[in-house]
Amino acid sequence: MLEGRHALVTGGGTGLGLAIARALAGAGAEVTIAGRRAEVLAAAAGPGLHPLVMDVADEASVVAGVAMAVAARGPATVCVANAGIAEGRSLARTDLAFWRRLMAVNLDGAFLTIRECLPGMRAAGWGRVIAVASIAGLRGLRGAPAYTASKHGLVGLVRGLSEEVIGSGITCNALCPGYADTEIVARNTGAIAARAGVSEAEALALMVAENRHRRLIAPGEVAAAALWLCAPGSESVNGQAIAIAGGQV
Ligand code: NAP
Repeated sequence: MLEGRHALVTGGGTGLGLAIARALAGAGAEVTIAGRRAEVLAAAAGPGLHPLVMDVADEASVVAGVAMAVAARGPATVCVANAGIAEGRSLARTDLAFWRRLMAVNLDGAFLTIRECLPGMRAAGWGRVIAVASIAGLRGLRGAPAYTASKHGLVGLVRGLSEEVIGSGITCNALCPGYADTEIVARNTGAIAARAGVSEAEALALMVAENRHRRLIAPGEVAAAALWLCAPGSESVNGQAIAIAGGQV
């Protein structure tokens, strides 16, 4: 299905990004997996998966990184802006440095990555922009106002760009998972436990309870949605923020 296509996935060395990258490679794409840690990317690399060290918060790194990937594998006509950091702090404890760090990765990073991939899509007359936002892009996430703002911003970017690409063969959508079974959630369990004054098991149970199916989202569920957005039959899906959250609203 994606034979001959080049897909670029930021944060592609771990978690949801790696699951998406593997699904796209499984469908025949050559996939650039980008992130900051070379050793993590090297461990994830394999048939169809090509590592690229790139910091999405650094404009020069994104410009050079995307150009290098395009030189090696052709225009990145599938762009998955997935890299992100998830950290919760009350607004009172949110200093400007923390706010800017979240925005720099979650919002600026997606903007820069998508902007650099877009000319290749326009030239090809086909493209798929997929931003991995969050259910926090659609509703408030308790204890995480900066993260919520960054993901609402990302959904706004997707909706704005979807208007710009109408009729060009390019679509632009956001995937909005609830708590998923990845490192981010494992890392946050301790933080949530400390904040809420509960054990780590209780913190995990609190996250699971947010999902009306009473389980974490499997990374493969998010990957399946990304694959569907690249497949024939989804051409008319544009500007959508698709919740993958067990009915959570
Ligand atoms: P993860 O395994 O921690 O993935 C985050 C990825 O982003 C890592 O591969 C990381 O690689 C990369 N990254 C972080 N900062 C970067 C930067 N400045 N430049 C380039 N890459 C950077 O967690 P995940 O759950 O898969 O998260 C992926 C996305 O899903 C995030 O945007 C997150 O907000 C979103 N999400 C996750 C959940 C969840 O419950 N897991 C739910 C909703 C949405 P390096 O550290 O090597 O750079």
